[in-house]
Amino acid sequence: MTNNNKTLSKVRWGSSLALCAGIVACGGTATTPGDTSSSQPVQSSSAVSSSTPVSSSAPSSSSVASSAPASSSSSSASGTNWPLVVAINAGSNLAATFNGVEYQADKYANGGSSHEVTDPINGVAEDALFQTERWGENYRYEVPVTPGTFTISLHMAELYHNAGGLRTFDVSVEGVPVFDDLDLFSQVGQFGALTQWVENIPVSDGSLTIELAASQDAGTLTGFAIYSNDGELDTSVPVSNCNGYVGLTFDDGPTGNTRSFVNTLRQNNLMPVTFFVNGSNISDPSVIREMMTVGEVQNHAFTHDYLTSMSQQQVRSQLEDNNNAIQNAGAPKPTILRPPYGDYNATVEQIANQLGLYVIQWDVDSRDWSGASSADIVNAVNQLRDGQNILMHENQANTINPSTMSQIASLLESKGLCPGVIDPNTGRVVAPR
Ligand code: ZN
Repeated sequence: MTNNNKTLSKVRWGSSLALCAGIVACGGTATTPGDTSSSQPVQSSSAVSSSTPVSSSAPSSSSVASSAPASSSSSSASGTNWPLVVAINAGSNLAATFNGVEYQADKYANGGSSHEVTDPINGVAEDALFQTERWGENYRYEVPVTPGTFTISLHMAELYHNAGGLRTFDVSVEGVPVFDDLDLFSQVGQFGALTQWVENIPVSDGSLTIELAASQDAGTLTGFAIYSNDGELDTSVPVSNCNGYVGLTFDDGPTGNTRSFVNTLRQNNLMPVTFFVNGSNISDPSVIREMMTVGEVQNHAFTHDYLTSMSQQQVRSQLEDNNNAIQNAGAPKPTILRPPYGDYNATVEQIANQLGLYVIQWDVDSRDWSGASSADIVNAVNQLRDGQNILMHENQANTINPSTMSQIASLLESKGLCPGVIDPNTGRVVAPR
């Protein structure tokens, strides 16, 4: 994985040499393609604490400017006099102001997860921008812009690790490396802030792309601001309002009410959801295809019994028979198992894995199975954070009530959260594919 990531960015570097000459000092990495030891920024980095810029080979027209510590001088607060195009507070539902610039709630992200801290940030007077982050092994921002030349500031902080060497990642802008194996802790320490300016980026492909790829652990960004003299935000491109994804899961179907419930979900644009079904409940296979129009159909065992009370052969039959029932009804082979009652052990998990099923439970329990009211269920959804899923049931009247689903839709929209799918490799909820 590490080598793949590094290779990827070298390839991109090579394929964008013409571009990179206009953006950054190309010399450093281009002439040392085999070097894997660098932990310094590819270009000069501007940090609140000092870091070691590699700027000697920068052409005079270049581009990655080093800003002085943000807290020490107002004249260095901005690396450009160009007008602001847009600024984003990564990983947050809220706007934040930094050096007079308003950073909007997170958007334009593709992948990654949000995380926040309340710890004070070292070296900056305004902490909020640096206290929330979007992090992930590989993710990117795609900001729709009209053709032009752009300058951006990238803001980062080490909000998690308390030692060096635990996180290293690459950052590229429009395919051109900005950082190679950046180790934030080594640069600024835990809860230290780093700001990197990247100047004179030509964009003609409809979007300004900021890409993060981890060599170790995860990349992270707490925000960015984009400036331009000639380009602007392309507001004709529809932008998703999603700054996080949550899993709406409905177990124990299908039931006689499934078709109308599918309509309710569609009317409220609550898609995609995940249905964990029991094959023993499938009397009319066409209902499975109907469920697929609003989400995924996954495995909840063939009958609703405790898997840990069964022999290994019985467990295997429960999972296999259910996979077959779902596939015979026209759905893809399930990739996720939620055991009935969340009941499983290492043996169940091993058998599930052999059948290509990742085992999950839930992050939030709506308790609809024990008489939760519509308001209780909505309140439970309100606890969901980016990447988490909630347990609900298709056979509970308060859950499938159109009023409940309508309230959930409004709630999620107000929080900038969108229904997502469960990643069968991690169990986390991610953007729909
Ligand atoms: Zn169940």
